[in-house]
Amino acid sequence: MTSAPDYISPIIGCRLWQWEGAGLRSLNGEPWRPGEPLEARCRLSEFAHWRPHRTNLRPHDAPHLKCTCGIYASKSLEHLRRPGYQRSLIYGQVLLWGTIVEHQRGWRAQYAYPKSFLLPPEVLPVALKEIETRLETLISYGRDIFVLHDGARWPLWKKGGGMDTLGLDYLSDRARRWYTQRNQRSGIRQGDRIAVAGEGIAVVDQIDGTYIRAKLGNKTMLRIARNEVSWKKENLRWETEASAYDEADGNK
Ligand SMILES: [Zn+2]
Repeated sequence: MTSAPDYISPIIGCRLWQWEGAGLRSLNGEPWRPGEPLEARCRLSEFAHWRPHRTNLRPHDAPHLKCTCGIYASKSLEHLRRPGYQRSLIYGQVLLWGTIVEHQRGWRAQYAYPKSFLLPPEVLPVALKEIETRLETLISYGRDIFVLHDGARWPLWKKGGGMDTLGLDYLSDRARRWYTQRNQRSGIRQGDRIAVAGEGIAVVDQIDGTYIRAKLGNKTMLRIARNEVSWKKENLRWETEASAYDEADGNK
C-alpha cells in the first residue's frame, strides 16, 4: 500500500465503518479499498458551478477550511455514535495525513487508511468456523483486529500472527453461553446431533412425545428417552449415555 509520507506523522483518529460482505464503507457509502488510502473529494465543490447562488466556494481540494468535506475522524471513541442498533457497524482507529482540518472533537483529512478494527461482538456470527470466513474481507486490509467488550479489547487477528487465542477464547465462551441459552429455551430439535456414548453421533430424525428417534451414521435408528438427553455446555453438544437408548423397531 501507499503509506503516509515519511515527513508527516499521520494523526490517529477514531471512526465507524459499515462492514458488509464486500468490505468497508463510510456511513455515506464511500468504499474503502484494501491496500490503498482513501482520498477525500469535495462533492459540494464539484457541483458548485451548477448552483453558484447556493455556495460561495469555488471547486477545491478536500478538505477545505470553510467547507464540510474531507474524511472524518473523531478524537475519541466516546465521541462516536453508538453502533448498537446496526449490526454491520464497527469501530476502528484510522491514520490521517495530507491536508488536515482540526475541529474540537475531530478532524477532516485528505487521506486516510484504517489502523486497527474494534468489533462489537454482535457483528460476528456465533459459530467460530463462520467467524473466520466473516473476517476475510476485514483481514484483507492487513490491520490488527480486536473484539470490543465492556471496554476491554480482545486481540482477534494480528498481522503476521493470524488468529489470536485470546479473542477466540472470548468468542468460544460467548458461543457456549449462546448455545446454552438457546437450548434451555427451545430444547432439542429435529436435525440436531446427539453424541451417544460408545456409538458415535446420531442425528435427530423425529421427536415424539417423550421419545426421540435418532439415526446413527451406520443408519441404525435409536429410540432415546427425551429426558436422558442433555446439553453439555463444555462440549457444545447434546449427549446421552449408552444405557439410555434402544434400537428402534425397524430401520428407516
Ligand atoms: Zn469542500
